[in-house]
Amino acid sequence: MATGASIEAKGLTKIYGEGPGAFHALGPIDLTVKPGEFVSLIGPSGCGKSTTLLLVSGLEPASEGTIAIDGKPLTDPICDVGIVFQDHLLLEFRTALKNVMLQQQIRRLDKAEMEARAARLFDRLGLAGAEDRYPWQLSGGMRQRVSIARALVHDPSMLLMDEPFGALDAITRTQIRHDLEMLWLETKKTVLFITHSIEEAVGLSDRVLVMSTGPGRIVDEIVIDLPRPRPAHLGEYPEFSAYAQRIYATFEKLGVYQFH
Ligand code: ADP
Repeated sequence: MATGASIEAKGLTKIYGEGPGAFHALGPIDLTVKPGEFVSLIGPSGCGKSTTLLLVSGLEPASEGTIAIDGKPLTDPICDVGIVFQDHLLLEFRTALKNVMLQQQIRRLDKAEMEARAARLFDRLGLAGAEDRYPWQLSGGMRQRVSIARALVHDPSMLLMDEPFGALDAITRTQIRHDLEMLWLETKKTVLFITHSIEEAVGLSDRVLVMSTGPGRIVDEIVIDLPRPRPAHLGEYPEFSAYAQRIYATFEKLGVYQFH
């Protein structure tokens, strides 16, 4: 099994467009993620979270700064990665299993090995029995589970997740958070996770990076020292409330929240 990759970004900046219409969206930011670490980026809409993820994947070039994956400078889109978006992006005309096996076809990997890995992931993600169902026959949570299986089936060393549970109801989110944590504990992939949810960020992460807008910067870094696996109700830890309070206070200071 592939172990987690390291990510090291320095002075990362993104300016979209050129000339008078240019828009400074991000940075400069420094970002380090250790092999096997689970790091969340949290911040208000438009602060550059998705941009950061796109830059780290190599899908979008940085305007300034450098990124190294496992010490190697990033110059092209990386293959050794799984990406999960808020929208499951499954193909409606393919069954759940065939959606996951797309990775095998596109990457021309060994079919038997990939089928065995897919079966293991279906089992771990509570999808056993759903292999032959089409996306429209699955609940929102199940569809997102299939997209997680698709992101992991080729055993990448890094998982990039952009608000993956943003469209799910609160109860489903709590369950899928736990299932993702269990899978991560087993596989120890490096995860960069984007969320608007303070509970999700603290519940899942080893470290939370808090971002500000205009242009996006990292304004706080919180090491989450809570035992794993973490419970459904994080409020049972007094430390959870302290971490959450610190993020709320940062957002209030930045003017993200204006409670009177
Ligand atoms: P977040 O994920 O935190 O909501 P994004 O990274 O999507 O933020 O966007 C950061 C800022 O950059 C936003 O103001 C957004 O409108 C802008 N932006 C994102 N992509 C582009 C693009 N391709 N061209 C121009 N501006 C963009």
